[in-house]
Amino acid sequence: APSHSGTVALVTGGSRGIGAAIVRRLAKDGAAVAFTYSSSPEKAEEVVREVQAAGGKALAIRADSADAKAVQAAVDETVRKFGRLDVLANNAGILRLGTVDEYSLEDFDRMVAVNVRAVFVAAQAAARHMTRGGRIITIGSISAVRAAFPGSSVYSMTKSAVAGMVRGLAIDLAPRGITVNNVQPGPTATDMNPEDAPYLEAVKGMMPVRRLGGAEEIAGMVAYLASPEAAFVTGSSLTIDGGYIA
Ligand code: NDP
Repeated sequence: APSHSGTVALVTGGSRGIGAAIVRRLAKDGAAVAFTYSSSPEKAEEVVREVQAAGGKALAIRADSADAKAVQAAVDETVRKFGRLDVLANNAGILRLGTVDEYSLEDFDRMVAVNVRAVFVAAQAAARHMTRGGRIITIGSISAVRAAFPGSSVYSMTKSAVAGMVRGLAIDLAPRGITVNNVQPGPTATDMNPEDAPYLEAVKGMMPVRRLGGAEEIAGMVAYLASPEAAFVTGSSLTIDGGYIA
């Protein structure tokens, strides 16, 4: 049987980029996959159609990560629709850059709400439904380790916050047989980091592999962490960055 058959997963921010790749991968491995999105309903429906065309199960739920009630409702809807919840992939995230002299507190609050608070809210709501073998995975960023560019203080802060949160959650949930881990991708080709952006030549120059990551490569690490085989990995931040911090 496929490695995730019988598994139910929820991916936040599954309409595009890394999240969409995680949805496709877990569905291909046999999981029933619900995912949230906030502003791309057409993209979300496209992901659902693609998964269904391949014989898989997917469900798109509109839920702005900044709205805790909406995130909690998405968790509950997943359980109502698919009967249980085994895997939470906390992927939704935003990138608002700006140097310290110009950064607005509105942007600061939005970044914290989506990249940090929502991650905690979803983990808390999901853990209530999970039984032994449950898996919580966050998509942090290598920015937690290396800021590298001007204007990245708040983004780096949110991703460091997630790395710290994961350690604490792992300890809280270990007695219940639930693992919690953080995947830290390096520069990956998505809308957030388009392959043709002018700054990317400089970024690639900082990467030993001289290319961006593919969203499906990040999804592969998530699929491993979500599997029963990964039961001994918990509280970790795993680097997948083409050698960016090497
Ligand atoms: P994209 O911008 O390509 O996609 C972001 C996804 O998150 C979309 O599906 C979007 O849905 C969703 N999303 C954004 N805001 C919200 C919100 N408020 N509520 C619900 N969903 C939301 O980003 P990536 O795929 O590149 O990034 C995914 C994750 O990976 C993020 O956490 C990011 O920080 C992290 N990351 C990315 C890297 C990269 O180089 N690309 C490197 C390291 C980490 P919608 O459009 O429907 O709102």
